[in-house]
Amino acid sequence: MSADLNLFITEETIEGDSEAVGALADATVAVKDNISTAGIRTTCGSEMLADYVPPYSATVVDRLTAAGATVVGKTNMDEFGMGTTTETSAFGPTRNPADPERVPGGSSGGSAAAVAAGEADIALGSDTGGSVRCPAAFCGVVGIKPTYGLVSRYGLVAYANSLEQIGPIASTVEEAAAALDVIAGHDPNDGTTRDLSEVDGAAPDSSYAAAADGDVDGLTVGVPTELFDGADERVVETVEAAIDDLEARGAETTEISLPSVEHAVQAYYVIAMAEASSNLARFDGVRYGHRSDGDGNWNESFAETREAFGAEVKRRILLGTYALSAGYHDKYYEKAQDARAWVRQDFEDAFADVDVIASPTMPVLPFELGESLDDPLRMYLADANTTPVNLANLPAVSVPAGEADGLPVGLQLVGPKFGEETVIRAASAVEE
Ligand code: GLN
Repeated sequence: MSADLNLFITEETIEGDSEAVGALADATVAVKDNISTAGIRTTCGSEMLADYVPPYSATVVDRLTAAGATVVGKTNMDEFGMGTTTETSAFGPTRNPADPERVPGGSSGGSAAAVAAGEADIALGSDTGGSVRCPAAFCGVVGIKPTYGLVSRYGLVAYANSLEQIGPIASTVEEAAAALDVIAGHDPNDGTTRDLSEVDGAAPDSSYAAAADGDVDGLTVGVPTELFDGADERVVETVEAAIDDLEARGAETTEISLPSVEHAVQAYYVIAMAEASSNLARFDGVRYGHRSDGDGNWNESFAETREAFGAEVKRRILLGTYALSAGYHDKYYEKAQDARAWVRQDFEDAFADVDVIASPTMPVLPFELGESLDDPLRMYLADANTTPVNLANLPAVSVPAGEADGLPVGLQLVGPKFGEETVIRAASAVEE
């Protein structure tokens, strides 16, 4: 059955250290195919990199195998992480184990579906605008998007560097947190990672897995009206019931407002596409991957080489280049940066009064296969609740809240910067 789900692009293994002890000693891990694995091709779901074999592994992969986990394969994904359904992959769509006629979410759809289908204990995804949390929500598993700077991006093929983090996916909050314990922390190869002993309020020696204790007594949960407006009624009901359960366990809930978030999707897509247009310039046929020789003419060679990108990637390179070009830079890119600053400020103000912020992870139930592929705006709008978190570089967890019409619904819990323990604690109470 799993074969039909199209979970993996490449099924090759990297053995974990057999001497290792600890939570991950015998774990299997599925790795999103934009995270480098030495000697195993890393395609980013693209024709462009269909034969690309990296010479080194990402820091997160080295840390997991050193902790005893065995890599079991490279998972399917939207091309270069650009999508919300795993349908933009050059290797065909992944199907949702909960309903194979529906998408698993994206862009880390293969990773979340691999965990949901029991093909791996844990999986790694990358989350630029929701790509760990969305597929976790659609597949009924747990996904953690860490604070920007907590987890090394060394060896992650960049989509939009100022927004993205690698994050773990697992069946339970505790397992995902145990994987985060292993991959988190300063990496000399990624200058944006932080040394937690130098971060105010962070607890460098604590264990995220130990924080999954379900104790929410006295915790204040902010419920922002804006992240419920316009969501599918069935999703809202399921998420509200999960928030009521938190209250029954001793948490206090309070309605809050995040007025800036209505601009978040627009700002996110301008910034993400601008960064992508610059990052993807490296795929020129000379340095990596696919190459067309263009009869020896450089311009032709460059243009023909880049025909290997799929439609969604081309759309984003074009729009991103446009948003950065002279005359439009202030109109789009700088406006988007202003909106980003506003979103960041709104969250900061909110966290003066509450410990965590709860909402639906996705405002919709999983799409049917093919339903949103030709309607990019509809697909982009589904990222309304996840993208604000990336704009503000905050930590968040998506945890299963229950089901609606037999389909999984995810609850998103957001915390202040480096407040992973609080969101993990709250999320573990939801699953009890
Ligand atoms: N769906 C969003 C996008 O297409 C998020 C993707 C991601 O987080 N990689 O950009």
